[in-house]
Amino acid sequence: MPLTRAEAADRAATVDVHEYEVHLDVTGEGDTFGSRAVVRFDARPGAATFLEFEPVAVESMTLNGVPLPPSAVAAGRLHLSDLASSNELAVTATMRYSNTGEGLHKYVDPADGNVYLYQHLFINNAGRVLPAFDQPDLKASFKVSVTAPESWTVAANGQLVAHSANVWEFAPTKRISTYLATLFAGPFHAVTDTHDGIPLALYVRAALGEHLDAQAEEIFTITKQCLDRYHEMFDIRYPFGHYQQAFAPEFNFGAMEYPGLVIFRDEMIYRSAVTESQRESRANVIAHEMAHMWFGDLVTMAWWDDLWLNESFAEYLGTRVAAEATRFKGTWTTFAMQRKAWGLRADQHPSTHPVAPVSVADTDEALLNFDGISYAKGAATLKQLVAWVGDEAFRAGLNAHFAAHAYGNATLADLLARLAKASGRDLSAWAEVWLRQPQVNTLRTAIGADGSVSILQTAPAAHPTLRPHKIGIGLYDNGAGGTVSRRSFVEVEVAAAPSTDIPEISGKADLVLLNDGDLTYAKIRLDEASNAAVPNMLPLIGDSLARAVLWAATLDAVVDGERAVAELVTLVLAALPVESEVVIVEDVLRATRSLVDRYSTPETRPAALELVAQAADRLLAASEPGGSRQLAAARGFIGATVDVARLRGWLAGSGVPDGLAVDADLRWLILYRLVVLGAAGRAEIDAEFERDRSATGEQWAARCRAAVPDASSKAAAWSAIIEDVKLSNRLVEMTASGFWHPEQLDLLAPYVPRYFADMPEMMRVRRGMSAERTAGLAYPEVVVDPETRRLAAELLARDDLDPLLHRVVQDIDDDMRKALAARF
Ligand SMILES: [Zn+2]
Repeated sequence: MPLTRAEAADRAATVDVHEYEVHLDVTGEGDTFGSRAVVRFDARPGAATFLEFEPVAVESMTLNGVPLPPSAVAAGRLHLSDLASSNELAVTATMRYSNTGEGLHKYVDPADGNVYLYQHLFINNAGRVLPAFDQPDLKASFKVSVTAPESWTVAANGQLVAHSANVWEFAPTKRISTYLATLFAGPFHAVTDTHDGIPLALYVRAALGEHLDAQAEEIFTITKQCLDRYHEMFDIRYPFGHYQQAFAPEFNFGAMEYPGLVIFRDEMIYRSAVTESQRESRANVIAHEMAHMWFGDLVTMAWWDDLWLNESFAEYLGTRVAAEATRFKGTWTTFAMQRKAWGLRADQHPSTHPVAPVSVADTDEALLNFDGISYAKGAATLKQLVAWVGDEAFRAGLNAHFAAHAYGNATLADLLARLAKASGRDLSAWAEVWLRQPQVNTLRTAIGADGSVSILQTAPAAHPTLRPHKIGIGLYDNGAGGTVSRRSFVEVEVAAAPSTDIPEISGKADLVLLNDGDLTYAKIRLDEASNAAVPNMLPLIGDSLARAVLWAATLDAVVDGERAVAELVTLVLAALPVESEVVIVEDVLRATRSLVDRYSTPETRPAALELVAQAADRLLAASEPGGSRQLAAARGFIGATVDVARLRGWLAGSGVPDGLAVDADLRWLILYRLVVLGAAGRAEIDAEFERDRSATGEQWAARCRAAVPDASSKAAAWSAIIEDVKLSNRLVEMTASGFWHPEQLDLLAPYVPRYFADMPEMMRVRRGMSAERTAGLAYPEVVVDPETRRLAAELLARDDLDPLLHRVVQDIDDDMRKALAARF
């Protein structure tokens, strides 16, 4: 059951937790493990309280030496009463492994049968491993030991202090929140190093060991560069001893910031060719998780209201530090193109919420807020804040914040007070409009007949807040011989008003780019003349960040129905084949593909898709052999083409572009497309899985099987999605992601009503993040039809609907509303 804000506040006033001494025994077969915990805490004498606790069976349970009755455990909680001022709770119990990525996740590698475990307690899953006061402001030291098979290795937050044959003992951690306690165990492969006195380690399951060996140098280099940069920026050195990074199977997030032992999804150890933008993304995640060591781990939010304090800061600092300290200088281009689109989408959904909500009612609502607003909008807002107060004041404020709250908790008010003091600016008005109000402003350029420029600002009717924006404006001119140059760039303050004159700009330009440099968070619309100039000028602009801002604005205008998808496809065909920035290539192809699927009609879609395939094909022909652009173009082409013969040729090794490696992952991508087109089926999928009996192969096979266009394959996939609880988080998500295709609308028609009928049951048997994700992936988003919307409305009207499902349906239905409006 979710923990409410009121319960947490009450409990924090009742107890003061010192230590969890935990011993896990993971040597048994089957789906359970042993957990023995001693919890030492102070309390208000005579008071009652509870811990989160979800055992399969309890062997013994005492409070201060006195046995507790079995009835003390009910509905996921262990209730205690008549507490002493100093208490010791001792519990020995049998617990269940999970396959959803929450609790103690157990994974069997299909490559070699090896078993791996990782512990992920976020957001309220501590009770699945031990009895715990599971809330962020009851920090405690964790003293962990594990009994595991002798052939294994075990890593945890703390440093290993003793290891006999099959027992690993770890030093007690500093005081950390329960959601930050972790471990990683199994016969994993390790690479170690050290930097600036800090021991470093990388772990991955054995099947990926050789790939880790090949990539360790790059990962360590980035790790060291980021550590150095954070040490320059912050007064407090990295506070948690060693810095281990484990790459775990079936991890729900990109990564998680456990102090001393960051865990990443192991897709980040590449086994096939990847693009530079994928490597950049990994560097960004490394920098992001490291930022959390200070923001989140050293100083933690008091309650989930301030989740954004964790995620927005990590997103902002990670993007910034990756750009400043590593070879990946273009992270802000990626942010402008990709991450902000995520934030904008979430922010315009009916479920939008402020970056910093005043009050998050319970842990369920907190999980819902774990979205593009808390990450990307929050980070964009921080970028705007830094533009506002200056970097020096920003860093001084952060350091004062860390010094005041190290190993403790803090709120938005605490942080704002430090930033205001450091900058000498009152930030309360700024925080009110930027952090406490949801939704986004649109900024438009208006150009007078005399060339004068003003900026018009609007807000949606439901959230009519206008904001002050500090923005850049670039003036671009066509030059001789097909060149484009930026004549001038000015930084101006746009008032929180419907119109702001910009006298700093004079003289007409061929293209006036609002938000050049991407300083603010807003929807951008250009003047008519600039819009008309985009197709010719965009490819010739030298600055990738400026091109990203233009592409993002163009895509956003299509989403809003202001520009036709046919117009977008024409632009893609003209501009993309000369695009040099890989992340732009990837993102434009992905976003265009998605818009073509949803915004064109069944009649116009084939022609639009053909143009996307042509654009990718031209880019492919123009790309250097073996480079990232070639790989991005090839993936885009495979996803859009209907040229079955050519795809089959690539699989067979004929007609493959020079330098393109048709490796394991690209083979699966080709096969997947062939399956969607009805040109390959179960026999080919089975054969490919025989050839690639790996974790990734198993996942791709699940996705491909769900895509096979026949009734029995769809029936099997649907029943797996809805009710096969043996299927892990990753396998069910891959199955759901392979299910719907605009190429298969007739076959899939019966599953539109079934989605709305069956999803409440799916939410009942699965839980947490994986359930939310599956509900989104299984949505009939490609069936853009008034009947789909009617069924959604009917479901949303139910008053017993799971809140996670409610939000998924409400938001995707709103996307469909826009798509329908744009079509007709
Ligand atoms: Zn994070």
